[in-house]
Amino acid sequence: MAGKVWFVGAGPGDPDLITVKGRKLLEQAGAILYAGSLVDQAATLFAPDDCEIRDSKDMTLEEMTAWLVDQTSRHGTVVRLQTGDPGLYGALIEMTRPLTAAGIEWSVVPGVSSAFASAAAAGETLTLPEVTQTVILTRVAGRTPMPEGEDLEALAAHRTTLCIFLSITLLHEVQRALRAAGWAEDAPIVVVQKASWPGEEKIIRGTLADIKKKCQEQKVGAQAMIIASPTLGAADWETLARSKLYDPSFSHRFRRSSVSE
Ligand code: SAH
Repeated sequence: MAGKVWFVGAGPGDPDLITVKGRKLLEQAGAILYAGSLVDQAATLFAPDDCEIRDSKDMTLEEMTAWLVDQTSRHGTVVRLQTGDPGLYGALIEMTRPLTAAGIEWSVVPGVSSAFASAAAAGETLTLPEVTQTVILTRVAGRTPMPEGEDLEALAAHRTTLCIFLSITLLHEVQRALRAAGWAEDAPIVVVQKASWPGEEKIIRGTLADIKKKCQEQKVGAQAMIIASPTLGAADWETLARSKLYDPSFSHRFRRSSVSE
């Protein structure tokens, strides 16, 4: 019987940030196809000795699916290991469709996205009561164009948290879009490179005006998350609207209000 392909989110880089389920699958995998340099450590750390491990860096999509299909004829568990969460900029559906067409079963195991690892590294929150309750995960157009209505300028007009992937080399374009949407020159921006990578993480804090210069000075030009948000720096604000979740006058499913209404 043909094996099954598991698309596993490896998390942002620190091998400890893969899920328990993902790790168990790696431990029983007969073959692992991992996505470039970002996740090789998890693959080699947790895979059995006789596991066939291959980097997909130089493979086309067709070669990757052919490799996965071939491996399922020999192994019960085949893992495609992807950075962060497989559902974000991971070409997931492009890979699952040929598997379905070949009659091969597949499933997805979610992972910790670099958006969340970057916020965690910087000690920032992506939402804050009465400031913003919305997070937009996006990118600026590179080789992949942005669908209509999704250009950064239009999204930034919402004044919500923006987690901008795949765009560190286009920081000038991020600046242009935020300015065009009316963000102030002193709006805070944080860039996190290699979030969660032991010994390699860099956190650059700046403003719309100076973030590009700071990133250049620190030589941050790849593998970085840009977070622009009205919540940034809230740890140091003098006043803060209180989260309803922990407000003593607010009852919810797990906790009764201590204040009578
Ligand atoms: N599926 C991944 C995203 C893949 S796209 C996820 O959920 O995180 C690749 C982009 O993700 C990079 O250009 C960068 O913007 C971001 N990225 C991936 N790993 C990162 C890390 N450890 N630190 C900061 N950004 C990272």
